[in-house]
Amino acid sequence: MTTALEELARTASTCTRCRLSAGRTQVVFADGAPDADLMFIGEGPGYHEDVQGLPFVGAAGQLLNRLLGEVGMRREDVRITNTVLCRPPGNRDPLPDELASCRPYLLRQVELVEPRVVVTLGNFATRVILDRQVAISKVRGQRHAWNGRVVIPTFHPAAVLRSGGDSSRTMQSVREDFREIRTALDELPAVPTAPAVAVPEEQLGLF
Ligand code: URA
Repeated sequence: MTTALEELARTASTCTRCRLSAGRTQVVFADGAPDADLMFIGEGPGYHEDVQGLPFVGAAGQLLNRLLGEVGMRREDVRITNTVLCRPPGNRDPLPDELASCRPYLLRQVELVEPRVVVTLGNFATRVILDRQVAISKVRGQRHAWNGRVVIPTFHPAAVLRSGGDSSRTMQSVREDFREIRTALDELPAVPTAPAVAVPEEQLGLF
């Protein structure tokens, strides 16, 4: 039987709602567990993600996997996606209309996965999700209410790599944030929601 999440991924795989579809190799829907308690949201697919069809498979992804391991989690236990599902040309920031086109997929994916904690990676994803012009350095590591869930922003792993890697202050902050994420997961009850039902493809436009 096809799940609602598989159906959503199938619908997304041929999406032409915005101009990013013209330049993509493939849609990068998500990776990881369909019922994960923890969901990561990055900015958008880069070169390697576009080629492989999976989010966070480059150097930033390797670091994300390592950070997860440090707090006793595996990549396959969490869910990983991005604010947009197609690679923006030259890795530029997604534009407002591209974000708006992709938002129904993101919101529906969150609804279906039902994570207890959502972690936004970097300034861009944090601003998109919290819908405020926040500074990541101010809001990181804190629990923010969002759509009945908890969002904990942290620095993007690529920022850690740019700022000197393991010995950097940024890495120190991200490690602190991952410990807080672990604590939040251990503390928070499951989010009670109605059972997920499959949404016919033609209704996607109504989100
Ligand atoms: N950076 C992102 O924001 N997302 C990815 O999937 C890869 C790198």
